[in-house]
Amino acid sequence: MESPSGKPNLFGLDRAALSQVVAGLGEPAYRAEQIYLWLYRRRVRTVAEMTDLAKGLREALAAAYDLRWPEVVERRHSRDGTVKYLFRLDDGATIESVYIPEDRRRTICISTQAGCPLKCAFCLTGISGYKRNLKPWEILGQVATVMAEAPPEPKAWNVVVMGMGEPLLNYESTVIALRALMDPDGFAVAPKKLTLSTVGILPALEKLMQEPVRPNLAISLHAPTKALRRELMPIEERYDIQDVIAAAQRYPIPHGGAVTYEYVLLGGVNDQPTHARALVRLLAGAHGKVNLIPLNPAPEIPFAPPSPEAIDEFCRILSEARITVSVRRPRGQDILAACGQLHLKRGEVPVPAPVAS
Ligand code: SF4
Repeated sequence: MESPSGKPNLFGLDRAALSQVVAGLGEPAYRAEQIYLWLYRRRVRTVAEMTDLAKGLREALAAAYDLRWPEVVERRHSRDGTVKYLFRLDDGATIESVYIPEDRRRTICISTQAGCPLKCAFCLTGISGYKRNLKPWEILGQVATVMAEAPPEPKAWNVVVMGMGEPLLNYESTVIALRALMDPDGFAVAPKKLTLSTVGILPALEKLMQEPVRPNLAISLHAPTKALRRELMPIEERYDIQDVIAAAQRYPIPHGGAVTYEYVLLGGVNDQPTHARALVRLLAGAHGKVNLIPLNPAPEIPFAPPSPEAIDEFCRILSEARITVSVRRPRGQDILAACGQLHLKRGEVPVPAPVAS
């Protein structure tokens, strides 16, 4: 994938890669750290703004490298303040991110793949197909753009890796992005304010556990039994729900927090009292909380939202079993920015899905 200028992008390079860049230009190693701070802490848009670098070095850098964030082609504003960003990448692929302002916090939901190969039956991203993995600069550029455009408020940022794609199928790029996001010398997002959501790609989840600094973990469960999960989420064929929960229980959550188990409620499909009781049994002995997500309807999604009564009853059964449960309030529904509603732009051609490793 060639950039328009044909030059590599400085944005998205980690410390090791920046060290190679400065070595290649015959500069001392400490220059890499200076450039790192400009890219991820101060987030300048041009090399010319890196004022503690000598003019000659700035010129050499600008001659050999781009400094670019992904191009925003559309911002859709919801009545509730949510903004959905559509980015177009160099190869024409489009991805979406969502900015969600709330009373006490503000959140960015980012994508890690253009589309998604996992084809969960209730998810517009899955239904619309898969294009490719994102590069680190394409992931970090979503955060940089949204942060730069948000009103200057003292509220802490939350970043959730819950947009288009399965982040653990794009492990290398995702981890480079996570490190820069949590780095106090980078974006400085506190690990407990960063959440990675996964269906449970077990080998990658095991690797993530070995990272010295890790984000919060959310597991996309969505069904209480293997049989029903297999119907809704084809990945269940590969990674068993019980094994995923066992691995999640070993995941070291920052600051003693708990794993979140996400469960989209589909009217008449997985929202009945029998399902709630099966979920209680599935999570018996597990430390974690359940986040119920009433389906956000879309014309292409072949399911209905749950009734308010079904949501209440589901919550009651979980609460009585002493499981901490919350119900996610939909945001940005009117602009298709809510969970499961991000999708490839019409007319984009999906590619065959890679085999999940
Ligand atoms: S729910 Fe997540 S993993 Fe499933 S298809 Fe949608 S984006 Fe992919």
